[in-house]
Amino acid sequence: MKLCETFRSIQGEVQGIGRQALFVRAAGCNLGSKCPVDCDTRYSWDPAESPSFFEKSAGDIDAEIAASGVSAVVITGGEPLLQQAEVVELVRLRSGIDWFVETNGTIPPVDALHDDERVYFNVSPKLPSFDPSPFPLERSIFKHVVAPGSNDFAAWGRKMESMPDAIKHRTYFMPASRDREQYLANAPAVAIWCNANGFNFGPREHMVVFQGMRGQ
Ligand code: SF4
Repeated sequence: MKLCETFRSIQGEVQGIGRQALFVRAAGCNLGSKCPVDCDTRYSWDPAESPSFFEKSAGDIDAEIAASGVSAVVITGGEPLLQQAEVVELVRLRSGIDWFVETNGTIPPVDALHDDERVYFNVSPKLPSFDPSPFPLERSIFKHVVAPGSNDFAAWGRKMESMPDAIKHRTYFMPASRDREQYLANAPAVAIWCNANGFNFGPREHMVVFQGMRGQ
């Protein structure tokens, strides 16, 4: 699998929050410079930001999981579903792990991931054409990182408002932020808007605890 980093830390948001986890960050993103949001992990797909992409076999990643002693693995990116065959190979190697796949929602999961009850999807849509139907509803949440006052905030609100309640109830709005200061500045407005519009609020504890530092 082509990666840009692995590290053990605490899952800071949505499904799996608070758990000790090994983070496996895939290199590459299918949206990349065309992504409509300000990417806070540009180093995962832009070689100009990070020269440290590397290959690691499923067996070697599995050994790292075993050595870390965790029961949760976050497969993030970039866009990890660009490398689904490798993710399937990895997931099949080990039982007793909850797998959390973080995706931008543009690539449907293959059956081997969709149907695996140990695999959860934290979907963060970026495109207005987003369709939640390819994801297993009971193991998926849909999160929007939004800046108060921005156009995408209102647009995503309208988009998710038009969806069935089953989707809306699994949708979280989270404050856009690159560090603790921005998070704390934006969180109250996002939470108030969530209350007014009946959406879940998504805490981003890594922003508070680790100040959004890379590798934490
Ligand atoms: S989809 Fe995610 S990783 Fe890819 S460019 Fe957009 S924000 Fe960055």
